[in-house]
Amino acid sequence: MKKHNFYAGPAILPQSVIEQTAEAVRDFGGMGLSIMEISHRSKPVVKFMEEAVDNVKKLFNLNDDYAVLFLTGGASSQFFVSVMNLADETDKIGYINTGTWSDKAIKEAKKLSDPVEVASSKESNYTYIPKDYDMPSDIKYLHITSNNTVFGTQYKEWPSCSCPYIADMSSDIFSKSIPIEKFGLIYAGAQKNVGLAGTTLVIVRKDILGKLSRTIPTMLDYNTHIAKNSAFNTPPVLPIYTTKLNLDWIIEMGGVEAMEKRNNAKAELLYNEIDNNPLFKGTTAVEDRSVMNATFLLHDEAHKDKFLSMCDEAGIVGILGHRSVGGFRASMYNAMDIESVEVLVSVMKELSNSVG
Ligand code: PMP
Repeated sequence: MKKHNFYAGPAILPQSVIEQTAEAVRDFGGMGLSIMEISHRSKPVVKFMEEAVDNVKKLFNLNDDYAVLFLTGGASSQFFVSVMNLADETDKIGYINTGTWSDKAIKEAKKLSDPVEVASSKESNYTYIPKDYDMPSDIKYLHITSNNTVFGTQYKEWPSCSCPYIADMSSDIFSKSIPIEKFGLIYAGAQKNVGLAGTTLVIVRKDILGKLSRTIPTMLDYNTHIAKNSAFNTPPVLPIYTTKLNLDWIIEMGGVEAMEKRNNAKAELLYNEIDNNPLFKGTTAVEDRSVMNATFLLHDEAHKDKFLSMCDEAGIVGILGHRSVGGFRASMYNAMDIESVEVLVSVMKELSNSVG
């Protein structure tokens, strides 16, 4: 039976990307060797790593001011690596706290610099993106979580700030076009819209680096990895290969503009059902609803088991909400076809018809 994969991450990948990855694991490019057993210094690996970088540049129209890195340690490591590279101990980075991931980023920043929580939606359990606040004039950067995977909120308008953004884009990178000139640093774990868990994509404006008085350990210094094209040490070869293939797929599909259209259509279909089905309700402010992760609840939890078992019968997986929100979460990353959302919507309708 066809599965409809709504997991939040690791998450759905295009079938063709899975098949090409599987083939490379068996026999990479007809070499008679698995991609897992060839040197990261070999020509074919160096080539696809360059192609992965070129794909990122193409998708975001990056000029040579920006470097593209494939690192390890997950987005969670970037919570402190970003600060280590961009702020001295007394430097201020502003943070907009939209829950979980921004909260963790602030905690790490406190160990290394003087972060300022510019705004927060904590008082409402992060159901919205803060909008009315004063922007401090003494911050060097503004850190934002462009899409909060747990709470299902997403920036639709970028905050107005004269300093560059540092953005955790782990759960909506490549889902839409962005004004790249506003960003000094973007980071994203690969396990949603980028590729395979195990690598972390970092896009950084080179001119903001190398300006601090602090000492940065070699492996945590972005300049180390820029100088060595992400191969200062052994990079995660397979996740980078899958990333290259996945980005090829996005480009073939028409790039981030095409993804934006595709993703908006899926989100509209699901939120329309959430709003019109008498059994369900959304959890976030309508204007801040995430196009990637839709979070929703049953008015009456008594229907939960029935809904889950109907989902199961329809081949729907990964629909349970994060424990801090409860209810349900439908993650609809780039690779998901609208057909999967149609199946979910029809199960929601069926549930509503069956309980009257
Ligand atoms: N930021 C966001 C927005 C996330 O959704 C996640 C979880 N995937 C993380 C950071 C942490 O990512 P990682 O597991 O790669 O450290």
